[in-house]
This record gives sequence, C-alpha cells and structure tokens, in this order.
Amino acid sequence: MDSWDTGQLVADDKRYLWHPFTSMGEWCAPGHEPIVLVGGEGAVVRDSRGREYIDGNSSIWTNVHGHNHPRINAAIRAQLERVAHTSFLGTTNPPAIQLAREIVELFPGGKFGRVFYSDDGSTGMEAALRIVSQYWKLKGSSRRTFISFRDAYHGDTAGAASLGAAAMFGGEIDGFRFPVRCVARVEDLFEAGDPQDIAAVVIEPIIQGAAGMKIWPTGTLQKLREWCDDAGTLLIVDEVMTGFGRTGRMFACEHEGVEPDSYVFAKGLTGGYLPLALTLVSNEVFAPFLDGKPESTLFYGHSYTGNALGCAAALASLAVFRSDKTIDQLPPKIEAIRTGLAKISQLRGVKEVRACGMIGAIEMDGAGAVAADVCQVARGLGVLTRHIRSVITFMPPLVVSIEQIDSALGVLNESIQMVITYKAHDTAVPVPT
Ligand code: PLP
Repeated sequence: MDSWDTGQLVADDKRYLWHPFTSMGEWCAPGHEPIVLVGGEGAVVRDSRGREYIDGNSSIWTNVHGHNHPRINAAIRAQLERVAHTSFLGTTNPPAIQLAREIVELFPGGKFGRVFYSDDGSTGMEAALRIVSQYWKLKGSSRRTFISFRDAYHGDTAGAASLGAAAMFGGEIDGFRFPVRCVARVEDLFEAGDPQDIAAVVIEPIIQGAAGMKIWPTGTLQKLREWCDDAGTLLIVDEVMTGFGRTGRMFACEHEGVEPDSYVFAKGLTGGYLPLALTLVSNEVFAPFLDGKPESTLFYGHSYTGNALGCAAALASLAVFRSDKTIDQLPPKIEAIRTGLAKISQLRGVKEVRACGMIGAIEMDGAGAVAADVCQVARGLGVLTRHIRSVITFMPPLVVSIEQIDSALGVLNESIQMVITYKAHDTAVPVPT
C-alpha cells in the first residue's frame, strides 16, 4: 500500500489551495483536518490514514459503477496509449463520434439527432441556453426569456447561474446574461399571461437536487410538456444529477414518458471518472444551424471539448450499463434505501425523509448545524456524505450492495441519535476518529 504523509499534505493543502463552496477560514482553522482521499474500490473510498468510507454521495453525485472499475480503467488506459486529447475545433476523434452515436441511439424515437460536448454540468447547461437563444434568433423570433423554477440549480457559470437559486450565490451577483423569469410551480405558468417571449422552460426533472432533494409532484413534467407545446416554446431538461440511473431509470424523464427538446448530461456520463458533459438537441432545434450562413455558426466551445479520454470512459460506462444490466439490478437497492429511511423518519429531530430511486434525503428540524454535525459523526463511523443546509443526502454509486446500503443508513441512523442526544444536553458532539 502507498504511504502518505498526511500532515504534510494537509499543511500544503491549507497553504496553497482554495476549495469550492467552502469557507476557507473554517477549512484552514488549526483544528480542522480534512480527509485526504487516496484510493477507492467499488462504493468505498480510502483516505491517506488507511480509513475506509462508503461513498455516500457518489463523490458529489458523479460515480455510477464504482471506483476503480476494471473496464472503465482499461478503456481510459487504451485511449491514453493512442492519444489523450486533440482539438475538436477543426478536427474530430473516434470516441467522440462513437459516443454521440450511442447517445442518440439511446433515444430511439428519432427526435434527437445532435450532441454538443462540453466539460461539466454548468457548461452543458450554458451550451443549451446559448443554442436555444440562437435557435430563436435564427428563426426570426423574439423569444429570449427563460423560465426556471424557484430553488433550481443548474451550475455556476454566469448563464447557468442566471437560472439558479440566487441564495446559492450570496444573492448579490449581478450581470448574469440571460433574461429569466422564475416560478414556483408549473401551475404558475398558466397564470402568467402571454408566453410569446419565452425561449424555453428549464427544469431538473422529477427531483430538484441542490434545492435539498425536493421531489416534484407526479405529473409535473407532463404538464410542463403540454404547456410548452401550447405556448410554442421549448423544454430543456437538466439531467446532470438525475441522468444515468440515479432515479431508478436511465433518465428521469422516462418516469413520465416525456421528451424534452434538449437534454443536458454530465456527472454520471463518464461513470464519474472524467469531466465531460453533453447537450443533446432535437433535430428541429439543430435544423437552422445547418444552413451554412455565418450567423448559423454556434460561437461556443472549450479547449477540451470532445476530450477523447472522457468519451472513452463514457463509452465504457454505457457498455457496463448494458452488460451488467445495471438498471435492472436497482429495485432491491431502491427498496433498501426506502426501508432504511423509513426507520430514520421515526427518529427525534428528523422532520422528513424523501426517496427517489437511488437518491435519499433526510431533512432535519432546524437550521443546517445539526445536519452538519450528523455528517461529521457519520464520517467518523465510515460513511462520507454531505448536507445541503438541513438536508442530509444519501446517494451512493449504483454499484453499492444492499449490505452497504443497510450499513450506511445504519450509521446515519446512529449518528442522528448521537447528535440529537448530545444537543439535548447542550454538550458538544464527540466526533469518532
Ligand atoms: N445541474 C444540476 C442539476 C446539478 O445538480 C449540477 C451540480 O450539482 C449542475 C447542473 C452543475 O454541474 P457541475 O458542477 O458539473 O458544473
């Protein structure tokens, strides 16, 4: 086994690094020792001190078939032996071509014909917004405004963030590019008057993730599709979190038999191995970009667009979905999550539990401090996960076993009881190490 100098790594991290969505004052405080992850196998990750943890949030909602999967590793290595990266601007590459074809073939109705690559969920969403804006311009329409939903999260680039929950960004940042109208429910759309200026409605289908795993009422997507059809506007679904099996189906839209006009995929696309996103658009949306005029060029892209390693990983991940029948294996795991959460719902301090496929959420009473303490204690007991304000999330890789689900939810159950008991006595919660 490799040996690591954890003290030095932590000191250098605190000296040189800036972590996302992190209070760096707290991170760098002398008493805080971050976990340094050095390895992983299946649903388990290992730190520099040799401790193992169940990856209870799939490494920020990305990992699908488990860490260190031999076939995904081999596919990345094989591509690496050929070439790691070449430009997608003016040239193309085989894994990117093959992946686009396989993705289009996942939607056999024939509506979707084009894949646009980018790097992560945010840029995948950014591309969708740019494509749709330009689509309407090319069609000579004045539709420019996007509709998003309250508490939505679609990423951090300026365009994607213009759709998102202002609170996520301190609510203070101006200058995002896209005109946006925000609504709370689909029903609000029917009362909002003339939809003539609406370019598209954007939604996280079935469940809003960063809002705290909030599940939409059944039928929401269908109603939205009907509204968009009546309004003559487009529907963009952000499957960045939900795509590739998280909700129990390959894609969340399948739950309601709805086809949008554009899908955005990222996180699980490469099995959680490499940063890659794609924006899939209908033939209709793509059509005006084909007419050869200068204004029909989409002026958007990044240096690593169509990265061959990422595309090779994504192809391997799709192959594992097929050979291992990953989606067919999920129902007993989904049941185990529901059962474990039902037990947790009985505990003192728990306001509500929510489950959607392989996604679980435990909403605690009060503000986020209790949820934060629960996650701290759970870490000490071998489960890594994060909370979103007062909501503890549980979203293991799809490869997780039923025993690991039972064990992880058992740990969360125990951690909640411990934290609530200590809080009741106004005593600091001891964190197991
Ligand atoms: N869209 C959704 C629904 C997400 O959950 C996220 C990230 O959590 C994003 C977009 C942004 O993805 P990324 O962090 O890869 O940019």
